[in-house]
Amino acid sequence: MKRHEVIIVGGGLAGLTAAIDLAVRGREVLIIEKHAYPRHKVCGEYLSGEVWPYLHTIGVELPGAITIDTLSWSVPGRRPVETRLPLGGVGISRYGLDALLYQKACDAGVQVLIDAVTDIKALPGCFQVRTKGKVYESRVVLGAYGKRESLDKSLGRQFISRKSPWLAVKAHYHCQGWPDRLVGLHTFKGGYGGLSKTELGTVNFCYLVRYDSFKRYRNMTEFKEEVISENRELRHFLRHSKMVFDKPMSIAQISFGTKNPVDNGLLMIGDTAGVIHPLCGNGMAMAIHSASIAARLVHQYLSTSSDDLLSVRREYRRLWQANFRKRLMIGSALQTVLLNDSLASLSQATIARSPSLLRAVIRATHGKGIPI
Ligand SMILES: Cc1cc2nc3c(=O)[nH]c(=O)nc-3n(C[C@H](O)[C@H](O)[C@H](O)COP(=O)(O)OP(=O)(O)OC[C@H]3O[C@@H](n4cnc5c(N)ncnc54)[C@H](O)[C@@H]3O)c2cc1C
Repeated sequence: MKRHEVIIVGGGLAGLTAAIDLAVRGREVLIIEKHAYPRHKVCGEYLSGEVWPYLHTIGVELPGAITIDTLSWSVPGRRPVETRLPLGGVGISRYGLDALLYQKACDAGVQVLIDAVTDIKALPGCFQVRTKGKVYESRVVLGAYGKRESLDKSLGRQFISRKSPWLAVKAHYHCQGWPDRLVGLHTFKGGYGGLSKTELGTVNFCYLVRYDSFKRYRNMTEFKEEVISENRELRHFLRHSKMVFDKPMSIAQISFGTKNPVDNGLLMIGDTAGVIHPLCGNGMAMAIHSASIAARLVHQYLSTSSDDLLSVRREYRRLWQANFRKRLMIGSALQTVLLNDSLASLSQATIARSPSLLRAVIRATHGKGIPI
């Protein structure tokens, strides 16, 4: 059986970025991804500017992405507050972004196999990765399979046993006159939604809501009319736009519980290592950043003849905690405030008087830029 240098399980943002980085460094990489490209994914599709210099170093540019420099934030019953985003970002669809990275990975020599991984085992000196019909071997495996998967069960990861109340819904809309430079974050009872333009010319509306708030309504249309439209900004958007998708996409059981960035001997990257609350608009940047850290450490390890991954695991865990732990904690606290009607209203009134406070909060939930 061929022994690969690196197998990456999951070819989303984190997996594809790590693969491109490793291939650019001359490593042999196999990605196993369960879905074919391109496809839409549930995501707010605002990508923070902190990742651009790094993406540039691995040869990734984002042609057509929409430059965004302003955040508009509102709670029901209050006028929105606008502030300039300290780092800025872009609006880009996951349909376009993942496909672009996939093409880059193929061009860089990464082998991409469309299949679902069912189990991964760490053996002395190597890993075995199992799909339904085959077994693959490699010196290193990166876990990049996203938020919550049946693979987490096979690997016995603890967070998977806890049910999560969160549901997310997304669709693209045609909306004449939507300002390119704006990303909107607007709350409603039990949830919040993001609005931003994509390179496809559509506006992405993606919202996160507690399932118990959602299930009281018969369907999404009723929920939109009765709950989401309580927020004047969202009501205005929904009345003046037309959905492009046949129907909205949704995912359930989004869990924000603590995970281990190193688990079962694997380095976990992106959402597989930890999920930040979407209101921070930083999950994609974290996926790319964690992939860059893992790729550098794995390349260094493969450049030696050592079979001892222990120090790589220790260093990856240390760097992951140093870069992301605080962001996750602040994101969690923010979500608590935003979903409490009176706290959200009070903080919005405070920030309306002092918008620099909002910029400080945004800085605390974002990185300063990936070291290159
Ligand atoms: C509602 C919502 C809104 C968001 N909005 C934003 C935003 O505006 N900005 C932002 O920066 N972040 C946002 N995020 C976060 C962002 O979407 C994620 O952090 C990001 O997608 C993580 O990338 P990833 O590569 O870790 O996971 P993914 O992109 O989910 O990739 C995982 C891949 O693994 C594959 N896979 C899964 N299981 C297997 C298996 N067994 N075998 C093989 N392949 C497998 C999947 O098919 C998938 O392609 C949002 C998240 C949510 C839920």
